[in-house]
Amino acid sequence: MTIETRKQLEENLSTIRDRIAQACQVSGRSVSEVTLIAVTKYAELDWVRELIDLGVRDLGEARPQQLVSRARELPADIGWHLIGHLQRNKADEILPFTQMIHSVDSVRLFEHLAKSAIKRQSKPKILLEVNVSREQSKDGFDPTVLLAAWPKLQTCDSLEISGLMTMAPLGDSSEIARPVFRRLRELRDRLRIESNGRWQLPELSMGMSGDFEVGIEEGATLIRIGSSLFEGLSAD
Ligand SMILES: *Cc1c(COP(=O)(O)O)cnc(C)c1O
Repeated sequence: MTIETRKQLEENLSTIRDRIAQACQVSGRSVSEVTLIAVTKYAELDWVRELIDLGVRDLGEARPQQLVSRARELPADIGWHLIGHLQRNKADEILPFTQMIHSVDSVRLFEHLAKSAIKRQSKPKILLEVNVSREQSKDGFDPTVLLAAWPKLQTCDSLEISGLMTMAPLGDSSEIARPVFRRLRELRDRLRIESNGRWQLPELSMGMSGDFEVGIEEGATLIRIGSSLFEGLSAD
């Protein structure tokens, strides 16, 4: 990796950390409440190593295979987040490598993971992905379907249901994301109440390069940032 590449990456990371701090300040939150997940799906392995050197410990991959192969190559203390669609037949393979699966988007996948967890005697952390904006092209639970499934899902004791995840529609303005993120938070509050507090659902994974400040203002605890971290870098 060239010195220029390294400097650019350091600068990008520091700009993003400043913007996170600023958004936290605006919304009266502490920076310790927000975890930056570096989404490395389009990043060269060298860049990822450099990010790790710069102190990033949470990495996100969209494809299960790439997550597994990178997890094998990189230090063991990395927290890997699966953020892309997971097929049931890939679930068993990735469980040992993931800190959290953000993309549990159907009852069938949920139940499959719950069974695998019992077999492995582990308690994986998962988020329920919600298609708040009800776009045809998006994965995720329809909010109404999730509410209807919740009485059943909440009885699970082999998974740690940590919270909810969503993706906002893309648009010219990050403000398009605000009502979507707000609805995710409100849905979380409702699920929490309907579980009589059994599930606190502390995590909200919402916000990407184009809208993470809005995510933080609306209560995100996990933000998933790819393109703006790797802006201006080119493969050597
Ligand atoms: C790629 C991806 C991201 C990162 O998006 P950027 O706009 O590149 O920051 C976040 N979340 C999911 C689910 C993704 O697939």
